[in-house]
Amino acid sequence: MRNLRRGRAMMRGVRILERLDELYEIGGGEGANRPGGSAEEDRAHELAAGWMEEAGLAVEVDAAGNLIGKTASPDVWAGSHLDSIPNGGKYDGALGVVAGIEAVERVGRGAVVAFRDEERGCTGSEAFVVRGERPPTFLELHIEQGPVLEQAGAPLGIVTGITGMVRAERVFEGVAGHAGTVPMSARHDALVAAVEYVLHVRNRARAIEGAVATVGRLEVEPGVANVIPSRVRLSVDARAPDRPRLDRLVAELGLEPLFELEPVPMAAAPLAALRAEVEARGLPVVELRSGAGHDAAVLANAGVPTAMLFVRSLNGGVSHSPDENSSPEDIALAVEVLAGALARLP
Ligand SMILES: [Zn+2]
Repeated sequence: MRNLRRGRAMMRGVRILERLDELYEIGGGEGANRPGGSAEEDRAHELAAGWMEEAGLAVEVDAAGNLIGKTASPDVWAGSHLDSIPNGGKYDGALGVVAGIEAVERVGRGAVVAFRDEERGCTGSEAFVVRGERPPTFLELHIEQGPVLEQAGAPLGIVTGITGMVRAERVFEGVAGHAGTVPMSARHDALVAAVEYVLHVRNRARAIEGAVATVGRLEVEPGVANVIPSRVRLSVDARAPDRPRLDRLVAELGLEPLFELEPVPMAAAPLAALRAEVEARGLPVVELRSGAGHDAAVLANAGVPTAMLFVRSLNGGVSHSPDENSSPEDIALAVEVLAGALARLP
């Protein structure tokens, strides 16, 4: 009996890895290539719909294109997203959907959802909470996308809260001029002003505990080697663990948010269920905050009792890259814990 059970568990583990491979192959090229709104994302949803049907789930697609597979008692939900950035990793989002299908099938209870277009700003889950039904509880299994669990030697982590985020742009105007004839004292170089601002961003974020801020894109005009830059547009991504710190960072950086994700704590009941399942397996209980935004944050902000389980990211926690990696053993443990938590929740 024990051997039979172990055999079945192994088969299921293999199936999860095969499904992740299948999703990863969509779009070809290096890495995952399933941007939100693309035919490749559609293809991933078709595949997942087939797996949900195989699991005996009733499949629905909502007005925003989110894919939902339900058992007869859809009172606890699991899920994540199937879109990726270009040249993304194999596990980001996809693992949460594939593992969600597996866990829901295993416990014969709940529902699993694949949200659309997470990477560009949680478009699918935002539409879901505005128009759709409210899951009584939501659990998102996701790779950590950071080095904390690897450094702690822990396969799994329990997310206690999701950091708030603001995305904004700043524009710096200068005066174009000949790189050879305008003296240094007479210049209005937009890029020099922008670079001073980039350092300001770094310094302000460093001064607020738990905050991070990044300038990831600079567009320099006219972008010619022998012309003084006349205009620079740059992106700012600012994050902090709670509202007061995020507000302070936004004010100090002079940002007008284009996109905002509210910092949000995870809910007590699903957190307790995850903790109990991790402890029951003799694993260390590592609690951490998520610095990345997730669909789980959108649901939590909409009032759905929500928690997240992180799986250890290897290779120093690299993510959004073909080097993203998590071990089959850690993934198997994560699916067990997710299934256990789904079964345990009232
Ligand atoms: Zn993700």
